[in-house]
Amino acid sequence: MKNLVILGAGTAGTTVANMLRKKLPSDWSLKIIDPDKEHLFQPDLIFIPFDMQTPEKTIRPRKDTFGKGIEWIQRQVQQVDADNNQVVLDGDEKVPYDLLVIATGCNIRPEETPGLLGEEWQRSIFDFYTLEGSIALRDALKKFDGGRVVVNTVEMPIKCPVAPLEITFLAESFFTENGIRDNVELTYVTPLDGAFTKPIAAKALGGILDDRGIKVEAEYNASEVDVDRKVLRSYDEREVPFDLLITIPTHMGAQFIEDSGLGDDLAFIPTDRHSLLAKNHDNIFVLGDATDLPTSKAGSVAHFQAEVVVDNVLHLIKGESPKAVFDGHANCFIESGYGKAMLIDFNYDTEPLPGVYPVPGLGPMSLLKETRMNHLGKLGFRWLYWNALLPARPLPVPNRMSMLGKRPPAGWGVIGAVEGAGNAA
Ligand SMILES: Cc1cc2nc3c(=O)[nH]c(=O)nc-3n(C[C@H](O)[C@H](O)[C@H](O)COP(=O)(O)OP(=O)(O)OC[C@H]3O[C@@H](n4cnc5c(N)ncnc54)[C@H](O)[C@@H]3O)c2cc1C
Repeated sequence: MKNLVILGAGTAGTTVANMLRKKLPSDWSLKIIDPDKEHLFQPDLIFIPFDMQTPEKTIRPRKDTFGKGIEWIQRQVQQVDADNNQVVLDGDEKVPYDLLVIATGCNIRPEETPGLLGEEWQRSIFDFYTLEGSIALRDALKKFDGGRVVVNTVEMPIKCPVAPLEITFLAESFFTENGIRDNVELTYVTPLDGAFTKPIAAKALGGILDDRGIKVEAEYNASEVDVDRKVLRSYDEREVPFDLLITIPTHMGAQFIEDSGLGDDLAFIPTDRHSLLAKNHDNIFVLGDATDLPTSKAGSVAHFQAEVVVDNVLHLIKGESPKAVFDGHANCFIESGYGKAMLIDFNYDTEPLPGVYPVPGLGPMSLLKETRMNHLGKLGFRWLYWNALLPARPLPVPNRMSMLGKRPPAGWGVIGAVEGAGNAA
C-alpha cells in the first residue's frame, strides 16, 4: 500500500480529502491528521460579537465532515521528517507517507506583541479570530455604552484580510442601531497605506470608512500596548488611546513547521505559486493558510487550490509532472453593515475590479459595490460551505479567475494588470 497523508482537517485539508477519496487508485491509503474534534466555520466569527450568529451554529463534529474511505487520525503533528518521508505525532508515533499534503493553516499569536496578553486581555482588549475571543467580545459589547474603539491589525499577513474592515463596519452599524454611535469614536488602525492593498478596492472601502466617520491611522506598525494608560504604541512612537481595543494579532503557521525547518520567519511554507508543491520538495504539496503565497488567506482560495492539488497528486501518481495552473484566484464577501455587503474577485495579476459575479451580465452579485444581494450571498455561503464546498460537491464556479463580467475603469491595465496585483495577503 502507498500512503497519501494530509496534515490538518480544516477547510483545505478536508476539501482535498473529500475530493480525493473516490479518485485515488485502490493501492493508495488516505489519512488525515488533526487533533481537534470540531470543525469551525471561521467566517461566522465576525457575526458572533453582534449576536448575528450563535457560537453553537459555527461548529460541527469533525467526524461528520469526512466521506467514506478517509482515515482520520485524531492526533497532533509534532514534526515532518522530510528526509525519511514520515510524520512524527505526539507520543513519538511515526506515520510514513509517499505523498504529503500540508494544510495546517495559521493562528493568531498575541504573545508576539508586548502588553496584548496582559491583564486587559478579554477585559478591554479582544480578538475575534478565535471562538473564545469572539464570544468575549460579544459579551463586552453588550455592556459597552461609549468611548474610544480601536480596531488594529498588528502586521500582515493575516487570514481573511478584509475581516478587520468587516468588524469595523459591523461595529459602526451596531453602535448606530443601538443608539450610541454619537458616544463612540471609532478608529481603524492598519499597517497598510489605506483601507486595502490595491488602489481600486482601497478607494471603494476607504470611501465607506470616510462616509461613516471612521478615522483611519495608516502605515501603523504596532509595537506594544501600554496597559496602564490603555494606549496602543507603534514603532515610530505614535500613540492611539483606546477604551476597547479589537486586535488582529500577528499570525503564524503551526509550531511543527518551525520545528521541522520547513517555514519562513512566520512559519509559512515557501510554496511554488502555480503548482503548489513545497519549494525544494517534490512529494509535498501545501495549500490554504499554511503557504507563503501572495494571495489572500481565505477559504475560497483554499477551495480553488484544492482542485489544483488534487489534479497534481493524481499526475504524480501516474508518473506525470505536476501542472503549474494555480493563478492566485480569491474571492471574498465584505460585510459592510446595515444588511449589505461587497464582493471582491481577483488573482495574482488582477486587482479587485467592479462588475458582476459569477454570471457575466447577470450576477446576481455585484463586485466592489454594497448591495443587499451580496449580504444574502454571504449568509448563503454558510449553507454552501457545509453542504457543497467541504463535501467536495461539484460547483459551477470556475477555478481560475475570469475577466468576464468585470468592468475595468478607464486607464486600467497600466497599473492594474501587473504581477502581484492580487497580493492582498
Ligand atoms: C474572522 C475570520 C473571518 C473569515 N472570513 C472568511 C470569509 O468570509 N471568506 C473566506 O473565504 N475565508 C474567510 N476566513 C478565512 C478562512 O477561514 C481560512 O482561510 C480557511 O479556513 C483556511 O483553511 P485552512 O485549511 O488552510 O486552515 P484551517 O481551516 O484553519 O485549518 C487548519 C487545520 O489544521 C489543524 N492543525 C493545526 N496544527 C496542527 C498540527 N500540529 N497537527 C495537526 N493538525 C493541525 C487545525 O486543527 C485546523 O483544523 C475567515 C477567517 C477568520 C478567522
